Amino acid sequence: MPYQTLYRTWRPRRFDEIVGQNHVVRTLENAVQAQRVAHAYLFCGPRGTGKTTMAKVLAKAVNCTGSRRAEPCGQCASCVSVAAGSAVDVLEIDAASNRGVDEVRELRERVKFHPAAGRFKVYIVDEVHMLTNEAFNALLKTLEEPPAHVLFVLATTEPHKVPLTVISRCQRFDFRRIDQPDLVSRLEEVAAQAGLTLESGVPPFIARVADGSLRDALGILDQAAALSGNRITLEDLHSILGTVTGEVLERLVGDLAAGETGAALRVLQEVQAQGKDLRIVARELTDYLRNLLYGAFGAGGASRPDLDRDRLVEFLALFAKAEQEMRFATRPILPLELAVVRAGRPRTGAGEGLRPPEPEKGPELGRVWEEVLAEFRRRKPPAAPWLARAEPVAAGSRKLVLKFRDALAKEKVALPENKVILENILNLYYPGRWQIICVLDETPPKR
Ligand SMILES: [Zn+2]
Repeated sequence: MPYQTLYRTWRPRRFDEIVGQNHVVRTLENAVQAQRVAHAYLFCGPRGTGKTTMAKVLAKAVNCTGSRRAEPCGQCASCVSVAAGSAVDVLEIDAASNRGVDEVRELRERVKFHPAAGRFKVYIVDEVHMLTNEAFNALLKTLEEPPAHVLFVLATTEPHKVPLTVISRCQRFDFRRIDQPDLVSRLEEVAAQAGLTLESGVPPFIARVADGSLRDALGILDQAAALSGNRITLEDLHSILGTVTGEVLERLVGDLAAGETGAALRVLQEVQAQGKDLRIVARELTDYLRNLLYGAFGAGGASRPDLDRDRLVEFLALFAKAEQEMRFATRPILPLELAVVRAGRPRTGAGEGLRPPEPEKGPELGRVWEEVLAEFRRRKPPAAPWLARAEPVAAGSRKLVLKFRDALAKEKVALPENKVILENILNLYYPGRWQIICVLDETPPKR
């Protein structure tokens, strides 16, 4: 018997085995039960989310003779032949491989004939957006006047490429990326049934990398089993996928947080020496930082006391940019190294390219000073006239010196509550912790 991939072997055979698409399952089951199946369905969604699996279960369900409920029995002649791929009434067309011209033409000829065995003739067209215009037109003619015994299931990862005339004749379902917990429990089930032992961190790790695709998740498990037999460890996965351990990412980010740029660069070198794909490492790193960002805002995810929100945002922006640049770089390590160097800079002056230019003395802030005043007037009208008497004389890195000729005005603006408002407004223009210094100018005014 030829080797069957885990994805094929453990493909759901019934509605209740399908993972993560409950909204679709429920509607289809009801339709089958009530014998109100539509003539055409359009299944849209990312790859590996179960569209063709769902189509096959539906094909079984509508022709099953052994079950009174919506679930196919899996044992009658019809169910067995669909499962074996030999059912004469279920035709699969892969539009991606030959763009469907001949098949759709043939389909138009044959569609009028009644099914050989079951109640329905089921046409499953995978990647339907790849059909040629000619094939679409032929399909449309059939969809316009579908014989009562025909059921179309069109599947696509790119619904925007399917003509509206076709979409409008179908009942559409959008398949979701499968949630991580659902992927994890499915991986655990399949591993148990296939006799694989997984190290504890393995299922969540695969689920994260697979990004909502069950097919990808099981594909990774397959590769790992081929490499290391029945016991699969995180280390195996890292070597298959070119990923790095969480410990390496933690060390790298820890070095950056501590301003140890040299140490961080050495981590990069180590990783490269291990033959890892640096593009994947960069993606891992941004995923790690994203997770921290969620943690920092109390939205789940991990946390690190050595990185505050501002710093996290800064890091994330730097490494996301590096990840982008690495795609086109002939030496992918270079953008990554530059990001490390930029992230490792001391706090002030870090994050170049993320923020508006630093306020230089006078003119830079002068440009926005009117706006700052207006905003202050909006937030605290009674104190605004006092601030209006100030002259911003110097603005350095997050430090603003205000000069007053009027001692009372200086005293009013220097009140903590007013300073805080002003600091918050400045923070909108140039993020950071601002310091306001009020000084009294006692030199006699020039005449
Ligand atoms: Zn059956």
